Amino acid sequence: SVVYLNGQFMQAAEAKISPMDRGFLFGDGIYEVIPSYGGRCVGFAAHIQRLQTGLAALDIQCAMTVQDWQQLVQQLIQSNGEGNLGIYLHVSRGTDTKRAHAYPKAIAATIFAYAFEISAEPLADTETAPCYKVITAEDLRWQRCHIKSTALLGNVMHHQQAAALGLNECILFDEHGFLTEGSSTNVFIVKDTVVITPPLSHKILPGITRQLLLSILRQHSKLTVEERPVSKHELLIADEVWLTSSSKEVAAVVEVDGLRIGNQRPGPVWQLAQSLFSQYKYEY
Ligand code: PLP
Repeated sequence: SVVYLNGQFMQAAEAKISPMDRGFLFGDGIYEVIPSYGGRCVGFAAHIQRLQTGLAALDIQCAMTVQDWQQLVQQLIQSNGEGNLGIYLHVSRGTDTKRAHAYPKAIAATIFAYAFEISAEPLADTETAPCYKVITAEDLRWQRCHIKSTALLGNVMHHQQAAALGLNECILFDEHGFLTEGSSTNVFIVKDTVVITPPLSHKILPGITRQLLLSILRQHSKLTVEERPVSKHELLIADEVWLTSSSKEVAAVVEVDGLRIGNQRPGPVWQLAQSLFSQYKYEY
């Protein structure tokens, strides 16, 4: 595949970075994954906005403008066949040979991007949609989960807790027993047709799919939508549970900790939500 590294496009096998890169040694960087179908990105502007917010939070200097990112992403899509692609963007603080925790001054950021194949666009079809089975666990990650850091070990370990049991995701709860998010997804519940998701805070990633879905439901449906704390009890007695992410869009959960949710099939509110998402996702 064709990748981008520091201003140049090249074959993946030719892309080389220094082991002294702080992305490698410290996990000192920010990343994004943008879905693209047939050359069209979902939520491009929002993804780039989140990337720039993350870079500012870490004081990483990166001269790329929105237009620069747009050109880079378009070229990457064209070079990789315009199919169903996840576009991975990565900016690390750069290379420094001195071992110092503090941010080194005046080093150039490392900018890397590649495209990987993803599944076809999700459909709002209750017969064929994937059904997720998940576990719950205490959220043992750090207190800055709103930053999309390349340091993903906390997320990786939580995901592995589920994977080791042959399950799809690990849904996390904070020390007060309130829902945060999944290891790589945001979480929604539905009770009596009210759609509920935890509010933004330092405890969750501000998911772009979450943001688009909230906007779409508020603009294009009559459903009541609430951003408020969610307890574990509410999750377990919910009529429907959904996971959202760029590649999954809205995904139905049918089992939590071995207990079934609803009638163990993607529900009617899910079907409406995913079909509205499919219809309007390119308009944001
Ligand atoms: N939460 C976490 C921890 C994630 O890593 C991700 C995406 O990978 C999400 C939520 C969903 O975010 P988005 O909808 O922007 O893909």
